[in-house]
Amino acid sequence: MKKKRFAVIGLGKFGFYLARDLANQGHSVIGIDKNEKPVEEISEFISHAVVADARKREVLKNLNLDQMETVVVAIGSMTPSVLITLYLKEMGCRYILAKAIDEDHATLLSLVGAHEVTIPERDAAVREAKRLSMPNLVDFLPMLPEYCLADIAPPAEFIGKTLAELDIRKRFKIHVIGIKSESDGSIHLMPSADHRIRPGERLYVLARKEDLEQGVLASGEGQK
Ligand code: ADP
Repeated sequence: MKKKRFAVIGLGKFGFYLARDLANQGHSVIGIDKNEKPVEEISEFISHAVVADARKREVLKNLNLDQMETVVVAIGSMTPSVLITLYLKEMGCRYILAKAIDEDHATLLSLVGAHEVTIPERDAAVREAKRLSMPNLVDFLPMLPEYCLADIAPPAEFIGKTLAELDIRKRFKIHVIGIKSESDGSIHLMPSADHRIRPGERLYVLARKEDLEQGVLASGEGQK
């Protein structure tokens, strides 16, 4: 798997577990918190841990956060999290995931430019509800750590072609198990080989992580 660079701002419970887990998965992680204690606690797990007030633009610039694949803003308090997200956006950070404590906070974070917003309790509850209602599927998948189910944007060369024409299983070693239409949100499961990929569709694929990274995602446009 390709090693990625992440920064996690705010090392409370959410930030701490996220930073530690990303590092466990082999990525390079910078953790930032204004307090010494959480920085000390995370330092044995991640590449670099810094005590700094992320509300200062120069702090964010000096840490070169615009070079990271993803910057996570994990601060529950509304004003600093919104300001920091705004500064990261102004700096041109490529992908900002921000934590919100409620729907209003989430709306503000999206408005200032977060690419993705999570309300951890809500999102964990939704995932648990799915897992509990489909125990077989979700219990089964985590037993195969080298595989993943991913939702990807098809690379440009896929548009207008059928799955058979693309010879997708053989060439990219991925199994397309569903197609989602972004315009109306409908999902077409188990598409047949003559399904023609249209603009605005996303693919749900089952693949080995390695094959996905080296194949369709490496071709440029496929996205997480
Ligand atoms: P959780 O609910 O996941 O524990 P919190 O919102 O309570 O999250 O924790 C936020 C963390 O962010 C705290 O450790 C806090 O010290 C840190 N933090 C808050 N403001 C800043 C800031 N301006 N710069 C850096 N870290 C901050």
